[in-house]
Amino acid sequence: MCIFCQIINGEIPSKKIYEDEYTYAFLDIEPVSLGHTLIIPKVHAETIYDLSAEDMKNFSQSIPKVAKHLKETLNCDGLNILQNNGEYALQSVFHVHFHLIPRYSEQFDGF
Ligand code: 5GP
Ligand code: ZN
Repeated sequence: MCIFCQIINGEIPSKKIYEDEYTYAFLDIEPVSLGHTLIIPKVHAETIYDLSAEDMKNFSQSIPKVAKHLKETLNCDGLNILQNNGEYALQSVFHVHFHLIPRYSEQFDGF
């Protein structure tokens, strides 16, 4: 079973941010910013190409919810959403995931 499936079913501990029937969100173990969160569908799919339209529809509704939750709780000034597919896109865990990366004005290093 993949590591993110093990996180969903609690075999590997995680810092949960959000959960519903279709979705699990948790803090990244190697955060690039405060509050760096991974949001994943509960159904196992390696990449975006493997996720059915129905599963994507159910899962994706939680992305803006978690984004708003991060904004409200962390008072971040910006938010990057990033999703990697395949090793040449630097995907390292083969269970679809979206990175939600809060950004802060005080750490901003220029346009
Ligand atoms: P990718 O490079 O595949 O887009 O991102 C995978 C992410 O998963 C990385 O940012 C990495 O830090 C995170 N990650 C890998 N293993 C674990 C883990 O066991 N727990 C948590 N919370 N994050 C993990
Ligand atoms: Zn999985």
